[in-house]
Amino acid sequence: MSWYFNQWRRNHILRHEAIPEIIWQKLIHLRCLKGLRLEDLQRLHELVLLFLHIKVINGAHDLEITDEMRVTIAIQACILILNLDLEYYDNWIEIIVYPGEFILDYDYADDTGVVHHAHGIASGEAWHRGPVILSWQDIAHTAHSPPFPARNVIIHEFAHTLDMLYEGANGCPPLHVNMSALTWHDVFSQHYTSFCELVDAEQETLIDPYAAESPAEFFAVLSEVFFESPLILQQHLPAIYEQLALFYRQNPAERWANT
Ligand SMILES: [Zn+2]
Repeated sequence: MSWYFNQWRRNHILRHEAIPEIIWQKLIHLRCLKGLRLEDLQRLHELVLLFLHIKVINGAHDLEITDEMRVTIAIQACILILNLDLEYYDNWIEIIVYPGEFILDYDYADDTGVVHHAHGIASGEAWHRGPVILSWQDIAHTAHSPPFPARNVIIHEFAHTLDMLYEGANGCPPLHVNMSALTWHDVFSQHYTSFCELVDAEQETLIDPYAAESPAEFFAVLSEVFFESPLILQQHLPAIYEQLALFYRQNPAERWANT
């Protein structure tokens, strides 16, 4: 009954809701979608429609959220789960979009119960039970940023929501049965340690030094690079690329090489 109802509801949404064609045709040229086949784009289109039906996108500070902004966010959130499932985003409903960077100012308890105070300026933030918070200025910047170093605040924050599905924000999302937790841990911890040493020594790094903040940030930043500059990631960090390809069930480097 539940399966039938979900299928009925899904088909009802797909039949009765639409994305303005002019917006869709513009946004499928985003760099993170490069090389997608027609059937992939069709599945992405369906995911975006369902995503926009389920999720609530609100503007902060009187920011008006247009159709194009809604689809821009949804299409890049959904590229992460193109070969996973919309259920990966079941834990939260709301996305809040600020016009620009916003101020963090709150207390939080870590896993050991110690309370910390967060204060600073951010371009995005994700909470396990929502909301996902984004800066529109940073989203808009992605489209005009150079191909490397790759930045994509949408991919970054939604990667955090996937990471948090398994034992909190620790840089390890729920792995599939064909993956090895030991291999994931070995690959990521070894690369994270050597990356932090480079950052501490103020040496030039392949990816944003911000990734040294924590294993969770390392995973989120690498997810940005995986979708925005996959050939470079595959060339320089093949073991990381392989693990991310297994988790996301996508091979963007192959897509890029074929276009
Ligand atoms: Zn982050």
